[in-house]
Amino acid sequence: MTESLEELACLAAEAVSRRRLLNETYRFISVPSPTGGEAAFAALFRDTLSELGLESFLDVEFADSPSVIGRLRGTGGGPTLQLDGHTDTVPVPHEPPSVDFERDLVRGRGAADMKGGLAAICEAIRALGVAGVRPRGDVLVTAHGLHEAPLGDQRTLRSLLARKVVGEAAIIAELGHANLATRSRGMSIYTISVRRDGPSMHEVEWTRRDAQPIEGVRLLLNALTARAEELTAEPAHFEERETLFVGEVRSGDFYNRVPTHAVIVGTRRYRAPLTKSDVMAEFEELCNNVAERTGLSLDVDLKEVGPAYALDPSEPVIAAVQASYRDVVGGELPLAPAQAVGNAADFAAFGVPAVYHGVNQRTAHSDDEHVSGAELERAARVIAGSIVHFCGADHDKEKR
Ligand SMILES: [Zn+2]
Repeated sequence: MTESLEELACLAAEAVSRRRLLNETYRFISVPSPTGGEAAFAALFRDTLSELGLESFLDVEFADSPSVIGRLRGTGGGPTLQLDGHTDTVPVPHEPPSVDFERDLVRGRGAADMKGGLAAICEAIRALGVAGVRPRGDVLVTAHGLHEAPLGDQRTLRSLLARKVVGEAAIIAELGHANLATRSRGMSIYTISVRRDGPSMHEVEWTRRDAQPIEGVRLLLNALTARAEELTAEPAHFEERETLFVGEVRSGDFYNRVPTHAVIVGTRRYRAPLTKSDVMAEFEELCNNVAERTGLSLDVDLKEVGPAYALDPSEPVIAAVQASYRDVVGGELPLAPAQAVGNAADFAAFGVPAVYHGVNQRTAHSDDEHVSGAELERAARVIAGSIVHFCGADHDKEKR
């Protein structure tokens, strides 16, 4: 008798050990890896994958932040699923790591964000082996540093993506514990500089009729506010609403001196299919209008923190994670917009559909970062089942 994918997903999920997950998460957070200093932990993670039977190695393009690449060969005939995560933690001090089996908790920097997720990836793969469930497609595991801003800028991940170290789809083992994010707004930080010709001078010497930079700021704020109101008037759910936010306005250095420059900084969040260049064109038009009216010179700089993306709801990885959740947790995992700018957008930019499923990250970046064994167990079970549903699988009965 051949088991269905549902039965195989459940078999694999049943082999997940909560105690091992707590231990493994504790072992992972015991090797610190603040952003930019992930080498020791990357080596530990590579060794862990090797012990699980993956062909694994360190990619040392960024010597202090090597990426880990591991591949579990499938038996053939199925698509490759990529399981991805970041190795770095925020470089903020925390009490030493601890594990408490009675209270079902691991505590320490990185427990929730996201070494618990990396431990869940390892446990999911181990559980498949223990249960004798053999994926048909490959399972590609990637882990990379330089993720957490401001030092992290995703260059490690983007390099892997550019070099096509990718699967047909990816599950990022963080966020998404209660829903399945299939879309997210993009976010860019804009900086508008306003300048006039000539040096600073006393207010009474300013005889020219044309505008000084603070007048330019006034006109710009009017235009930015009008645009922001247009955007928020569009009917959309709060997390999906396009926004234009002004966070900083700076100009002037003395009460009776005419300033030479001014700066406005803020954010613009936008939905797919809008891209950074569409947003740039929007700002340039606003600035050109003000420049024409005032004779001031205006420049826009736009830094994209993450692009907007929206997955096709028929992507097989969506169905795979939802089916796994149904099998091993029970109930539906609803589709939702992503709350934060995460790496799924980077994957999407390289044509790889990616979703999130990890532990609850409520305590991420906090002074009391921790994760429960129950969360770790659920994440590992859902990931194990997702491999079965996405890659296809067979039962190696010899193994049982
Ligand atoms: Zn994270």
